[in-house]
Amino acid sequence: MPSRRQVNAALLAAPFLCSRRARAAARAEVDVAIIGAGAAGLAAAHRAREKGLTARVIEARERVGGRIYTDASLGPAFDAGAFYIHFAERNPWREIALGLGAELVDDNTLWGSFNVFREGRPIPAEERSRRRGAFGRLSDAIDREPPGEDLSFAETARRHAPDLIEAAEAMTLLSLGENADRVSIRDYQALDSGDDLVLPGGYGTLLARYAAGLDIRLGTMVTGIDLSGAVARIESAGGVLTARAVIVTVPLGVLQAEAIRVTPRLPLALVAALDGLRMGALTKVALRVEGTRFGLSPWSQFFDQGRADDLVNFEFWPFDRDIVVAMFGGDFARALAAAGEAAAIEAIRARLVAILGAEAAGRITGGRLAGWSADPLARGAYSVALPGRMTARAALEAPVADLLWLAGEANAGAASMTAGGAALSAIRAVDGIAHRLAAAR
Ligand SMILES: Cc1cc2nc3c(=O)[nH]c(=O)nc-3n(C[C@H](O)[C@H](O)[C@H](O)COP(=O)(O)OP(=O)(O)OC[C@H]3O[C@@H](n4cnc5c(N)ncnc54)[C@H](O)[C@@H]3O)c2cc1C
Repeated sequence: MPSRRQVNAALLAAPFLCSRRARAAARAEVDVAIIGAGAAGLAAAHRAREKGLTARVIEARERVGGRIYTDASLGPAFDAGAFYIHFAERNPWREIALGLGAELVDDNTLWGSFNVFREGRPIPAEERSRRRGAFGRLSDAIDREPPGEDLSFAETARRHAPDLIEAAEAMTLLSLGENADRVSIRDYQALDSGDDLVLPGGYGTLLARYAAGLDIRLGTMVTGIDLSGAVARIESAGGVLTARAVIVTVPLGVLQAEAIRVTPRLPLALVAALDGLRMGALTKVALRVEGTRFGLSPWSQFFDQGRADDLVNFEFWPFDRDIVVAMFGGDFARALAAAGEAAAIEAIRARLVAILGAEAAGRITGGRLAGWSADPLARGAYSVALPGRMTARAALEAPVADLLWLAGEANAGAASMTAGGAALSAIRAVDGIAHRLAAAR
């Protein structure tokens, strides 16, 4: 226990420390440093401007957008990452798109035919209706779990009826990019839902336009953040930037890999919360197909159930373009992304040819892999909560040392996993910083 003299000395020193901190803060180069120029980083920079704060964004890639990127390298463009503006009614990207005059289309207007295959062969009608029923029964089973229990999708399926496991895998692999034994049912249930909109001009194109006029340093990898002084010091290949506050928007996987050294180390409670989440591996391969449409209308879908977790969903001719976009997830996707672009394209191409027949082989003239799990600046597609860890996200909201705020899709409560959630969490962080800076004056 400290002596009374020590307590008095500390009390007397406190105002001095505060004013020293205020003076040092006044010397910081910017009010807010923002690490990462994805959905969260760009939203944070705009919000800071609205609040009258100076902000600089530091981005490791040579482009903005992060996990939102419109890839036109095949000719017809596709969104390699996010595609839908989910829960559009309250998603900031809808207003941003409208403000920038971008075309928006209601997803409900885009339905084509839907066919289900098993290892390249159409499944019989009765199996198809059994599958449909299984999805409904799985949802009911999840709803019936006692509120306190936070099981995985796979465990919930096993408890109710083993034939639901295949439905559980399909649901988590294609919507979350993760195997069903690693996803919390409660975290999933808590997610926002609503209307979905899509952007024919590309979600990535929208973000690139939204970045215009912001102070962004591209190609600058942040390696360290020092919070031990009165201001945050952000260390990168470009030197040291001092800021009165820092918002870190790098993906969860990048934080978990400790690719950015934080001094002093992040609080244990925060590290434990980060451990409760993991990056799913939703992955896309786009194939350019020329000369025929195989009688399929735009937005038709083929769902191909493989031997195990190697499910692939093919979407044909989005926006009437000569392209097929395949999506898959989990360990199968991780293995393909790790094998590299040529191997992944070949594997997915072979699956499509098995369904469409030999003619397709000559019609596929190019491909692109969006292998987010093998990308060191993403380390996965988006965050899922592990079974039993449904509260992990909330623990990421508190600032660290009154200097560092985390923002991004992993930290967005019921809007997590989405671009909209990333933006909302960034807006919340800037508002928290503005409040603190105003109080410190
Ligand atoms: C295949 C796929 C499909 C998806 N579909 C949808 C969808 O339809 N709708 C939807 O809303 N969401 C979707 N998402 C999720 C959505 O893309 C993300 O939730 C959102 O883009 C995350 O934004 P963010 O700003 O949090 O992170 P990011 O976009 O990852 O931005 C973080 C930035 O930090 C940068 N960075 C990393 N390390 C460093 C470093 N050391 N120094 C400096 N910069 C660094 C990265 O390069 C990146 O630009 C999808 C994602 C994927 C992969």
